[in-house]
Amino acid sequence: MKRVLIVDDSRTIEARLAKAIQNRFECEVILADSRKICLERLNKFKHFDIALLDLNLPDAPNGEVVDLVMKFNIPIIVLTGNENSIDKKILQQKGIIDYVIKDRSYAIEQATNLAYRYIHNKNHKALIVDDSKTFAFKLENICKRYNLQTVVANSGEEALGIIKKDQDIDIVFVDYIMNGMNGLDFTTEIRKEYKQDEISIIALSGAADKEVIPSFLKYGANDFLSKDFSEEELVARMGTQLNNLELFNEVKDRANKDFMTGLFNRRYLFENGIDMYKKAKKDKNNFCAAILDIDKFKNINDTYGHDIGDVAIKELSKLMQKQIGDDTLISRIGGEEFCILFNNVDKDTVKKRLESLREYIHTNVITVNKIHFSYTISIGLTSSFGKDFDDMIKTADLALYDAKQNGRNQIVIK
Ligand code: GH3
Ligand code: MG
Ligand code: MG
Repeated sequence: MKRVLIVDDSRTIEARLAKAIQNRFECEVILADSRKICLERLNKFKHFDIALLDLNLPDAPNGEVVDLVMKFNIPIIVLTGNENSIDKKILQQKGIIDYVIKDRSYAIEQATNLAYRYIHNKNHKALIVDDSKTFAFKLENICKRYNLQTVVANSGEEALGIIKKDQDIDIVFVDYIMNGMNGLDFTTEIRKEYKQDEISIIALSGAADKEVIPSFLKYGANDFLSKDFSEEELVARMGTQLNNLELFNEVKDRANKDFMTGLFNRRYLFENGIDMYKKAKKDKNNFCAAILDIDKFKNINDTYGHDIGDVAIKELSKLMQKQIGDDTLISRIGGEEFCILFNNVDKDTVKKRLESLREYIHTNVITVNKIHFSYTISIGLTSSFGKDFDDMIKTADLALYDAKQNGRNQIVIK
């Protein structure tokens, strides 16, 4: 679990900040109200993912706590009473992530957002596209300092190649004027494949090219920065883009995934399964559909209660994700009913994987609150395309029906 250190002599600020941070992301918050206690906490816990430090403490009135925490190699966000009391240059030289002016109404939210962003930037990868190695290096260093993964390309062409290979890139900084493909053409190319909520593009150009800003935005850049940007501006804009990307993903997840298990939902299966189905049929690839259903699930609910029933559903979901393997689309299509599509996996392998899942569940005993229980599953499997996707799912469903009729805890193939 992530660990956050808050050092402030105001109990109110400490408490509000700790609450806001814990509401925002899962973490352990450790508090200290003086330099002395801070040192004790540092020695006790050793590792912190981030520290939020008040510059003015009774036993450290001039920001001395910053140097102390820095010795422990912990990234720092500074909290200060007013803007005049800080020297931004010194803070930057020391490698402070950012600062927050405490007396502003947005301060707690801003500090929380900065801490959240720093820790979660690690999940994002930035691609820097610039033919000036010096400038690319400068940008890369800033991104790294803010905890992002980075890749550098010295031309638009090279960058397109990188994006094709590396599906993890989600934010791109691109220069306007480059040898070969310019930034506008590059943006156009990216937007042929990726929408603004998939890869965020921040365009950069010199002050003389101001007229290019509207073009960039119309060609699909998410934002624009002048090349004489301040680090503060770049980081703030990048933060907004990453927040937006995460929000989009959350919205997509809520629409496409089942909340309880994290598996795809029925709607997603029928929207995306069709594309998988059509492609496999056209390319004459191996393609299988399986429907899995927990046996006598009503009995589990009736005997142990709905909560234990939920545990069984979650357990099965995890097992499928762990044991069923790659090239599959796993979805929860009903209460205790699941569908797995297997793409490019031959039927015998599919059968083996499902059989070992069925056997594992059959022998596995689950213990929750000292209650021991087990369950079994029945599976209907088909590799016949039929006339359309619905038809194929119906065939798998009929096979499942037969498995139930034949006594459950088995696979039937049609
Ligand atoms: P069969 O072997 O024929 O599949 O018998 P079954 O009892 O599993 O089948 P049935 O479809 O009749 O019952 C499914 C039950 O699953 C009914 C419903 O109350 C329960 N159920 C549906 N969704 C959930 C859920 O999210 N959590 C829990 N605990 N139960 C659920
Ligand atoms: Mg059932
Ligand atoms: Mg059922």
